[in-house]
Amino acid sequence: MKLKELYTAVRDILKSASDSPGSEALFLLSEVMVKTRERLLMDFEDEVEQRQVETALFLARKRAEGYPLQYITKKCHFYNLELHICEGVFIPRIETEVLVDLAIETIHENDIKTVADIGTGTGCIAIAIALNTHSEVYATDVNEKALEIAKKNAKKYGVDITLLKGPYLEPLIPFLDKIELIVSNPPYVSTKAELPADVRKEPSEALFAGEDGLEFFRNFFSDVSLLKDKTIIMEFSPEQKDSIEKLCNAFGKITFFNDQFNKTRFFKLAVE
Ligand code: SAM
Ligand code: GLN
Repeated sequence: MKLKELYTAVRDILKSASDSPGSEALFLLSEVMVKTRERLLMDFEDEVEQRQVETALFLARKRAEGYPLQYITKKCHFYNLELHICEGVFIPRIETEVLVDLAIETIHENDIKTVADIGTGTGCIAIAIALNTHSEVYATDVNEKALEIAKKNAKKYGVDITLLKGPYLEPLIPFLDKIELIVSNPPYVSTKAELPADVRKEPSEALFAGEDGLEFFRNFFSDVSLLKDKTIIMEFSPEQKDSIEKLCNAFGKITFFNDQFNKTRFFKLAVE
């Protein structure tokens, strides 16, 4: 098959899933064939190897079923970083970049030396913090695949992050004395929520937190004595603000922050 025929076939498959099937087709082909878009256009009359034809059509069909582009290209972008990702690991969202800004500001203002990121996924928050501050960074996850990807990403950016496996504060217990700031974008979606097809392709333990989406927060704050004098910055879903306030008010001073789209999505809690 000629490249231009493959391009047409891929573009036609993508029509159902994409608003710009032509440019997505070029992007997907450039990943499969390891060529720039410009090179692809110059090689349109060339014959393509059967193996590459099959890969391109397979990926285009997956994309048409709602499979996220990041899982196809195995790359995602966050805070000016290009990170490795694979299926089974949560894709960083642009809103979470605001959480990183809040964390960096807090670290600088209070001269914080040690930070922990709980539920690190690709390692995006931990790596952005390590690159932009002098603090020592710990990062945890319950998902082994996420920890592997986070390790690869930390290596790519040459940052030294201590990666630990386990739920909530458990893996951090030996280091809790020195950890001054804990950040997290935890799972906070209700199990009753109807999610778009692409989000449903992401790991459920990264998204869901019980019927009200608050299970992670309840468990995290179940033994608040462990958090004494620490600052906590977390992301949540805008409609959970009142519940978060009710849950955390007794523990210390709580402040809320908006994301780029003017939705209240983060809280900062100074535990007393
Ligand atoms: N921090 C990453 C980001 O912002 O892209 C990933 C966030 S994702 C919404 C939540 C992450 O928390 C997932 O990687 C999931 O595996 C992890 N996770 C879920 N429950 C956890 C728990 N109890 N303790 C630690 N990590 C957990
Ligand atoms: N904001 C994510 C979504 O698109 C959910 C992230 C989370 O649970 N932390 O559904």
